[in-house]
Amino acid sequence: MDSLSQKIYDQALRCGFDKCGIISISALDGFKQLYQQRLNDVPVSQYFYKGVGNLTETKSRFPWSKSIVILVFDYGKYRFPESLQGKYGKAFFLEPEKKSRERFDLERLEVWFYEHGIQAKGGEQFGSLSVGPLRYMAMKAGLGIIRKNNFFYTENGSYNNLFAYVIDQECELIHTCSAPPCSEKCDLCRRACKTKALEAPYTMNPFKCVSFLTTFGNSDTPEGLSDEMYEQWVCGCDNCQDACPYNRRHDWKHGLPLNKLEEIAPAILPENYENLTDEFLIKNVIPKTANHLQDKDIPALRKNAARSAINAQRAGAK
Ligand code: SF4
Ligand code: SF4
Repeated sequence: MDSLSQKIYDQALRCGFDKCGIISISALDGFKQLYQQRLNDVPVSQYFYKGVGNLTETKSRFPWSKSIVILVFDYGKYRFPESLQGKYGKAFFLEPEKKSRERFDLERLEVWFYEHGIQAKGGEQFGSLSVGPLRYMAMKAGLGIIRKNNFFYTENGSYNNLFAYVIDQECELIHTCSAPPCSEKCDLCRRACKTKALEAPYTMNPFKCVSFLTTFGNSDTPEGLSDEMYEQWVCGCDNCQDACPYNRRHDWKHGLPLNKLEEIAPAILPENYENLTDEFLIKNVIPKTANHLQDKDIPALRKNAARSAINAQRAGAK
């Protein structure tokens, strides 16, 4: 490892990240083809991907960039209340809330870049648009692999969050990932997806995805889907991740406490939403959705909760 890579790596870990890799900007050259393939496989996703940013234009957006620093924050270190499983997406609720001590410190890392004369853009500066295709970048850095359910996995599974910075320095830090690829025969994730959003391996139709529909999708039930398919999900959906053998090793009963989840869990069960004020939801639920829901989305959140409660009754009656 060159000395700049080593310094960046050490600083990333000091700022709370679990992994850090660095790739040359030219490592993105193969992405355009892969991206086009995905759009060909699921043409309807074109509209969606336009909304999440121009994934293929990293080089032209940042013409001065020479390398990309990729950071992984692993959620597996936290525990998750059993009563919230199947209702709230773990990847949303396990992101430490802003200003919490458990949270990774992007600001500190940015100050460090500045103090060391490194021009850097990324982190949360562009919201969900980011600086490019994070999962692909992380895979190129050897930090993990993308599985057939489209999620990025480290050796610890898929419950992680990725960040990236383009920087104006040449350096490289490529790891060796020991996670084996998906078996050709495995389709457990596709079978677990009630809405059939996983239309083919490595492709997903966002407009059929419960995680999208209960957040950015305004709680709608598009033609061809039924309310029952949402099961008891209020915000997010973990079905295709939890069905995966590479996540099953993890026991969510153990780990560090986070975001006061145990304290809040009884109150935010779907059947209790009728008794909750908007102020309560804005203070206690919206900040836990990792920016997937905003205060204005309270009516959609309530609709999700009502559907979840009805589906729980239906499931109980069977
Ligand atoms: S998150 Fe849920 S709905 Fe979306 S692809 Fe996975 S299983 Fe299907
Ligand atoms: S369930 Fe099987 S096919 Fe799907 S991501 Fe996991 S290993 Fe791959």
